[in-house]
Amino acid sequence: MHDLVIRGGNVVTPEGVRRADVAIEGGLIRAIEPELSGGANEIAADGLFLFPGLIDVHVHFNEPGHTEWEGAATGSRGLAAGGGTLFCDMPLNSIPCTTNARDFDTKCAALEVASVTDFAIWGGIVPGNVGQMVELAERGVVGFKAFLCHSGLDEFPRVDDLTFWEGLCEAARLGLPVAIHAENHELIESLGRRMASQGRRGIRDFLESRPVIAELEAIQRAAFLAGEAGAKLHVIHISSGRGVAVAAEARARGVDISIETCPHYLFFTEEDVERLGAVAKCAPPVRNKKEQDRLWDEVLGGSVDVVASDHSPSSPDRKAGDFWKTWGGIAGVQSTLAVLLDQGYHQRSLTLERIASLTASRPARRFGFNDRGRLAVGGCADITVADLGSTFTLNASDLLQRHAMSPYIGRSFRGAVKRTLRRGETIFADGKITVQNGGRFVRPTGK
Ligand SMILES: [Zn+2]
Repeated sequence: MHDLVIRGGNVVTPEGVRRADVAIEGGLIRAIEPELSGGANEIAADGLFLFPGLIDVHVHFNEPGHTEWEGAATGSRGLAAGGGTLFCDMPLNSIPCTTNARDFDTKCAALEVASVTDFAIWGGIVPGNVGQMVELAERGVVGFKAFLCHSGLDEFPRVDDLTFWEGLCEAARLGLPVAIHAENHELIESLGRRMASQGRRGIRDFLESRPVIAELEAIQRAAFLAGEAGAKLHVIHISSGRGVAVAAEARARGVDISIETCPHYLFFTEEDVERLGAVAKCAPPVRNKKEQDRLWDEVLGGSVDVVASDHSPSSPDRKAGDFWKTWGGIAGVQSTLAVLLDQGYHQRSLTLERIASLTASRPARRFGFNDRGRLAVGGCADITVADLGSTFTLNASDLLQRHAMSPYIGRSFRGAVKRTLRRGETIFADGKITVQNGGRFVRPTGK
């Protein structure tokens, strides 16, 4: 007898959506069939949809060291409530940042204690640590993150050209991807200084200080260098359709590139930022409607590989006061699937298979989580159960992250997560987290 049978749901697989029972044993999917015999436990899923658990490859849970902003305990609960089962934590904004093996060990131990979901860990590339990339690879990092502009934190400096080049070559040798924050440093610093000298300190001024061209140039240059180095490049949080197009052109020339965007670029526009203020501030910034439409075209056309949250919260005090000085980062870890179902599936005919690909199967393939990311026999039973027809309004009290600050508060979505299973165990159901911890470190395989 199977440990668990999820009965009667519509299963989203790479081959299509079909009504089936799913049997789980020992944390793995053992069968997906139209009619299975009884399990020791059963979950009724008639009318509901089963997705592979979301793999959020881009979060900042800030543990250890900045848990007053977030932490793995609260961040992973938010992720699970949004249908996520695995996150990849960025090398900042924890203290210490993850730039050597010792600091990796510190973070891994802290996450293992606190997290309700499984997790993987990004290493960083900063000036002076290229020699430590090999020890990070031995620990099992998912790849290496580098900033081409100021990171917002002095303890994680941007890469100079030599560090970037040597980091790309070392990552190529290690067979791991390099994730880049792509904005041209000189352009945005100079524009920022000019705005300051002219006393332009408004929200619109901030948005204009980080123009799309800064993103396009940085992607172009990074793609060239990655191609020359033979490195895998992962361009994170592309904010514009044109940015995706530049990266896709490089891919067509043979550069090994994966393309990530975030729900906030698909959901909010500049007008929202002006209205909402610092809670919607991030870098690169949210763009205008025309750029957003182009970005949706790229998502619908298949050029985007990954949608990740770039969940980057702070304490509320850092989101108050002078907009230019406030923390840049959007807290949206709980809303990724809701945005894709509402804005994508319901409003733009984005297919459910594509949503599963963007949130699970492509990230799993790209980053080497071989037994995850799709609902298939033999695979890990990371499963999100969603009701596509139910509409809900996100209230502050619904958020399980540390601080109930998110630009999505008060917005309505059609399509809601009802249950999340991590390796066959329910970790979220009916609005509540049902476990205390139990998240495991996941080492990428299959490079
Ligand atoms: Zn980020």
